[in-house]
Amino acid sequence: MQKVVILIGAPGSGKGTQSKFLKEYFSLAHISTGDMLREEIADETPLGLQIKDLIAQGKLVDDKTMGALIESRIVKDDCKNGFILDGFPRTLEQAKMLDEIFLNHAITNYKVIELHVDGDILIKRITGRYTCSSCGAIYNKFLKAPKVEGTCDVCGSTSFNQRADDNLETLQQRLDIYNTQSEPILDFYGKRGVKYRIDGSLEFAESKQDIIKIIEKN
Ligand SMILES: [Zn+2]
Repeated sequence: MQKVVILIGAPGSGKGTQSKFLKEYFSLAHISTGDMLREEIADETPLGLQIKDLIAQGKLVDDKTMGALIESRIVKDDCKNGFILDGFPRTLEQAKMLDEIFLNHAITNYKVIELHVDGDILIKRITGRYTCSSCGAIYNKFLKAPKVEGTCDVCGSTSFNQRADDNLETLQQRLDIYNTQSEPILDFYGKRGVKYRIDGSLEFAESKQDIIKIIEKN
């Protein structure tokens, strides 16, 4: 049977890492709506040009367009084993629309996994993040410092990079938007009994085991 997973998580919740892992582990397609939109734009498809216009006007892609994009994506060959939806639905309207799409394709056995991480941990994860400039190893000034201060554990380099765009104010804004948007969706799926909450503040090795169990359960 097709394994269909909807992953919901705030920025910094580890959604990207989990998606990549699940894609490999269960041979699923990873459907990221952000990536899909970027591809349409890069390929300059009619839809891509339309999207480019919308973005230039500061508007969002409407639900109908997103729905059509997703519906055309989930019937592709690489979705035979199943797929992970990442970044969709973002609103209750989109969740209801997805319902219809699933109905059209007789998808009844889907699971919604919420990667829950407390706000203060998310903030530490994102604002504390830095990488080794020679090997790319990832560190965090609050959560994971190198064993010898100022020296990369992997390659011994003493030079590091911190991303400039991770400032606290914009991050707080993104988290607020996430909370406002995700609440009604999680509620909607919770009432159907298809929602599972994973503790995303655990080490990846641990949280991935929890997710595997949920996906394997029928
Ligand atoms: Zn290094």
